[in-house]
Amino acid sequence: MSRIAYVNGQYVPHGQAYVHIEDRGYQFADGVYEVCEVRAGRMIDERRHMERLERSLREMRMAMPMPLKALGIVLRETIRRNRVRDGFVYLQVTRGVAPRDHYFPAPGTPPSIVVTARHVDPAKGDALALQGMAVITVPENRWERVDIKTVGLLPNVLAKQAAKEAGAREAWFVDAEGRVTEGGSTNAWIVTRDGKLVTRPAESGILRGITRTVMMDVAEKLQIRVEERPFTVVEALAAREAFVTSATNFAMPVVRIDGQVIGDGIPGPVTRALRENFHHHAEIAD
Ligand code: PMP
Repeated sequence: MSRIAYVNGQYVPHGQAYVHIEDRGYQFADGVYEVCEVRAGRMIDERRHMERLERSLREMRMAMPMPLKALGIVLRETIRRNRVRDGFVYLQVTRGVAPRDHYFPAPGTPPSIVVTARHVDPAKGDALALQGMAVITVPENRWERVDIKTVGLLPNVLAKQAAKEAGAREAWFVDAEGRVTEGGSTNAWIVTRDGKLVTRPAESGILRGITRTVMMDVAEKLQIRVEERPFTVVEALAAREAFVTSATNFAMPVVRIDGQVIGDGIPGPVTRALRENFHHHAEIAD
């Protein structure tokens, strides 16, 4: 089936979906994005993703490109036209097209909006979750504003490629104090020997993942204690379980860090329970 993308007001075949070479996203990574899970044809946690988009835009001193309601219609229409039942919808907003110059474009320059949607077979993630995945650690080398979901992802790209080449799926960034910040495209968690969940506070060094936020509610319902504090790589290596969260992974077990086995080397019961319960707590859009 042919894929359709939304580009600046039009639905176009994916193969002909272009933005201009002087788009600020292309020239300066001057844009933000969101990725929202689609499950049974409906968006998961749309409200929270849209709230984070509004925040990212505000921090970038950009306006919402269209009213929230209209954006919701575009997201739904892109999902519908691509007949996505399970997968994700991707939204990117940049500061628009203007002659290349670091200063902001002239007021009134329209932002660029791109929306794509893609089917992903849920069985693939479930199969990986049964096995668990490996991560490597890499020195944190990103800017301080990783709380803004910008398309400037070069350090993340390099870190994830290094992970892939090392036979792992994710790279965990580690700050100068030896503490894990987050993954290249996920938030990082451990389960301590005494059964507590630990994840870094969202106030500094990480993106406030929507899945992370929802997982806090899941943990509360399951009566699992959560400690929001930084944890070191040493602590992670000694943990009972480790896992990552993101909109496309829910909770995904980590069974090896830098080649060292975590816990029993197989996905643990806490991660499994969080993964299984996630969708009971996430908000399902109309
Ligand atoms: N951190 C980073 C750097 C990410 O790219 C992502 C995925 N967008 C996350 C965390 C997880 O965020 P979410 O749960 O909202 O997908």
